[in-house]
Amino acid sequence: MHPALSKFLASRLIDRKDGHRLAVLKRFEQLNRSDFYSAALREERQTEALVALLRHAQNHVPHFRSLLADHEITARNARDVLAELPPLRRADIQANPASFVADDATGVVDDHTGGSTGTPLTFKVDRPTQQAREASLMWANGLAGWRPGDRIAMLWGSDRDTKAAFRDWRLNLRWWLDNMRWYNAFEMGEEEMAAFHQAMTRFRPHLLVAYAGSLQVYARFLKSIGTVPGYPLTGLISSAEVLTQAGREEVREYFQRPIYDRYGNREAGAIAAECEAHGGLHVNEHDFVVEIDSVDPFKEPGPLLITYLANHAMPLIRYDTGDLAVWAKGECSCGRTTPRLARVVGAPGGYHPHRTREIDSRRILYPRALWRRGRSRVPVCTGINESLLPSRGRGSHPPRIRSAVAEEN
Ligand SMILES: [Zn+2]
Repeated sequence: MHPALSKFLASRLIDRKDGHRLAVLKRFEQLNRSDFYSAALREERQTEALVALLRHAQNHVPHFRSLLADHEITARNARDVLAELPPLRRADIQANPASFVADDATGVVDDHTGGSTGTPLTFKVDRPTQQAREASLMWANGLAGWRPGDRIAMLWGSDRDTKAAFRDWRLNLRWWLDNMRWYNAFEMGEEEMAAFHQAMTRFRPHLLVAYAGSLQVYARFLKSIGTVPGYPLTGLISSAEVLTQAGREEVREYFQRPIYDRYGNREAGAIAAECEAHGGLHVNEHDFVVEIDSVDPFKEPGPLLITYLANHAMPLIRYDTGDLAVWAKGECSCGRTTPRLARVVGAPGGYHPHRTREIDSRRILYPRALWRRGRSRVPVCTGINESLLPSRGRGSHPPRIRSAVAEEN
């Protein structure tokens, strides 16, 4: 479908009664604008949102009610109050989920993280949170050159739940109107990949979004059958797995299109995304206060903590993503003024039990600083359990792709 037609249909035909779609588009525009705000203006806006979130948590969320009991939260002290709160771990929420849900939350639905990063977490989202997550993914796509209406090919996971989503005709209709097509990255035999290639050749996606490993496997397959794809027209996005320098080069060279890394999670959407300058991942400061808990966060990777400003139904405040990151130095040549993550790596061994098994062959990626500190196993990933699918979770990567990536590295 032509992008202009999709843009028109998607914004007119598939809106819900409450104007969900238009709210998402409005938020998408806000995100794009705020990337170019002066640092002072963005800080002011972010602080306003932070004050509102902390006050709300203080008044309505049992877990934070006691932690914030004696604070009068103002724009002047909000960041100090935040810094005093202990990091929130997934296990804390799992131990007593009800104490994290706001007593005035309305219109909430359950959502779940995938099983690939340990025990799945069930969390609550309200409508504004759903809108924020959708808008953040559009924003991340936008940094990779996508415009509303452009065609997107998703070479993405499909476990039991996502297969159910594939059978949901309303979702399928919506994806069709959105110019989005899905290709199951969990079934990537030669026959399937040949079929993907045929379908994508017809579809001519502007963007191809995939796991880093899937992109490599797919590129190698196409190369092996001696074909040069005429897609994607704009670029490729790698997410939810580490994008190695070698992998990046291989995919970029083969498709002759730029490749963009991004980082996000199921709980909160796109947290950071790479721009056309490819000098790190710009943080989505409209939706997040991002902290790196390290003595020298520009050099020494530390736990990546997010405070998600959009979800008031179940606030995630100083939420430990389970990943480690370092900040990039200097300003980006693209003109966006937001801070950038230089890189994201997995947390120390044991944190992601499913990942530690597959990691020894990837030692080359481990940050040296962590070795010096005597941590022996550091699983690697960029972006965790992210999914665009409105269903729960996904499993770990298919063995075929895991081994192919491991061989390479
Ligand atoms: Zn940039």
